[in-house]
Amino acid sequence: MAIKVRKVRCPQCGGEALWSMENKYRPFCSERCKQIDLGAWASEAYRVPVQEKTLELDDDYLSKAE
Ligand SMILES: [Zn+2]
Repeated sequence: MAIKVRKVRCPQCGGEALWSMENKYRPFCSERCKQIDLGAWASEAYRVPVQEKTLELDDDYLSKAE
């Protein structure tokens, strides 16, 4: 019996990635592409709390000014 392996497009490099149990980095084609994507996500996540803190300080400042 033939085992069909699905191929998907790697979101990171746009190359071919195998969608199978052997490819634990799916949907990425390799560990390198997965690490790059996780790194980009982490740096985005770090920016959000900083912005929220700034907004809180602004609200506090405005309520005291009234
Ligand atoms: Zn890739």
